[in-house]
Amino acid sequence: MPMIRLIYFSCAADELTMADIQQILTAARRNNPSQSIGGMLCFERRYFLQVLEGERAAVNALYLDIADDSRHQDIQILSYEEVQQPAFQQWSMGFAPSNDDFYRLLSELGQNQFNPQAMTADQALNFTLHLAQQTQIQPH
Ligand code: FAD
Repeated sequence: MPMIRLIYFSCAADELTMADIQQILTAARRNNPSQSIGGMLCFERRYFLQVLEGERAAVNALYLDIADDSRHQDIQILSYEEVQQPAFQQWSMGFAPSNDDFYRLLSELGQNQFNPQAMTADQALNFTLHLAQQTQIQPH
């Protein structure tokens, strides 16, 4: 079965709270390991940017569930590609909050605000990979 990496971004619902983020992460960390899905979720005030990696059927099914979630809207897929090796598999769902490293990496991309709409697929992948390597992110 092909291994897929899907990257999308979306707009957070206006009424979203940190408790919602915590619930999303709890669900992801409970559900993703049994589907062998790894990934990274970035969030800063307005936008989510998420990478999902795993077998095609599992990633497709999870994406459809996520796309139906009322805690965000205006989902747009940035990239969907087959990969030989997962890059995020050690995180069932890593979380990158908007800390100093987050903004430093953003400025290296020439952005002073987190705006995934302005990112190319390569920039989004680079950004999330670099964030995943920061020690603040809790694995599993
Ligand atoms: P449940 O235990 O049923 O839900 C946990 C709590 O989340 C519920 O108590 C409820 O308050 C709330 N909730 C659940 N669904 C919704 C909804 N549609 N709208 C509003 N509140 C809801 N899930 C994953 O399993 N893996 C992921 O990687 C993942 N990433 C996500 C990324 C984003 C940006 C968002 C918005 C959601 C993500 N989710 C993810 C959540 C996903 O959309 C489903 O809510 C979740 O998969 C349901 O799993 P569950 O039945 O085990 O959770």
